[in-house]
Amino acid sequence: MTNAFSADLHSHTIASGHAFSTLDDMARAAAEAGITVLGVTEHGPAMDGAPHAGFFDMAGRLPPILHGVRVLPGIEANILDRTGRLDLTGDLLEFPQLVLAGLHGRTPYPSNATLVDNTDAVVRAAQNPAVHVIAHPYRSAFPVDGKILAEAAASTGTLIEVNLWVFRSLLEKAPDASADPVVSQTRLLLERLQECGGRYVLSSDAHHASELHTTRALVSAVCRLLDIREDNAASRNLAELAAAIPALRPGRADTRLQSWPLAAGREEPSDGPTDHRLWRGVFIEESLENLSLLAAVNVVGASSGSLEEEGDRGEVTFRRVEVPEEAVDAVVAEAVQTIKEGWYLHLVRNDHMKVVFRGKVFSLQRGDSDALQAAVDYGVQRQGIKEAQLGLARLFADPFG
Ligand SMILES: [Zn+2]
Ligand SMILES: [Zn+2]
Repeated sequence: MTNAFSADLHSHTIASGHAFSTLDDMARAAAEAGITVLGVTEHGPAMDGAPHAGFFDMAGRLPPILHGVRVLPGIEANILDRTGRLDLTGDLLEFPQLVLAGLHGRTPYPSNATLVDNTDAVVRAAQNPAVHVIAHPYRSAFPVDGKILAEAAASTGTLIEVNLWVFRSLLEKAPDASADPVVSQTRLLLERLQECGGRYVLSSDAHHASELHTTRALVSAVCRLLDIREDNAASRNLAELAAAIPALRPGRADTRLQSWPLAAGREEPSDGPTDHRLWRGVFIEESLENLSLLAAVNVVGASSGSLEEEGDRGEVTFRRVEVPEEAVDAVVAEAVQTIKEGWYLHLVRNDHMKVVFRGKVFSLQRGDSDALQAAVDYGVQRQGIKEAQLGLARLFADPFG
């Protein structure tokens, strides 16, 4: 993974009318950059050249996973006046899974608006329950009172964006950009936001696929400039994002994930001795301390039910997952820390299996019954798992079983 963060909630395709890559190009570039959740937030219809309303109501036709990346069809709504009114009405309210709102040129927003007008406008937008993120909250063309916005966003749980494009441009113009009012005002905004318990996300605002790749150096430079910590950004934590964005909550995309044929070139599970490139397995949501593990894998299906002889654990959610070979070590390293005591998860690729308990990983080979028994014994004796739950041998043939 080369990207500095795993979720990028702000990007545009050619559909926006002034961006340059297709959705497929963007998803492929996101996959290469290590982005697992990509918000595709086309400009709202009030901006010159932006897609019409009918474009957005086709969002349901998009595959939820493209080239291994979870794509959130979204909109970057335009704030139209100081009352915070948005170009987000009718079908547009129903279909986008991710709604950004911001002040933009080339829209009907009055060009003679004052700082007080702008502040009213973004505060009202932040209070709109349909809005998940305030995009580029302070730009030179649209100054706002950052403290007032921060307090409003924190109280409604609306995320505040740190727009990497804005700060990249400033840093390119002047290495010491700290004197720029955009920097000083954004610092005040973020300081107040954190005091009030609000959250910020880093995003690229990419208008071309190449802009999705955000280097660590740029992220570090922007975080230094704004006096924030990269690891405090909600864009690094799927569970935190899910608190603000319902579409990311477990279970929301399940029906579509189960029925969708997924990205081109993906293998279908087969019973034969096919040589699979992917590790496959089942993660139980309730067994994970942190659902961010699910953002690091491709979730290809889900179901719920109770465990054999473990009815007292109640209903649980099984996620069928796939992990490319190059990512499996990182996934296992995170899984061993995030799985709870008393549970396990497995990943199978051809004749190899990884069985992950809290703090302990077994790498097994098909037919090595001693090693298999050692893993079962560990699960029963050290983790208190019922033996009926540890039918590992059959998982070689049926990793999703
Ligand atoms: Zn744009
Ligand atoms: Zn944008």
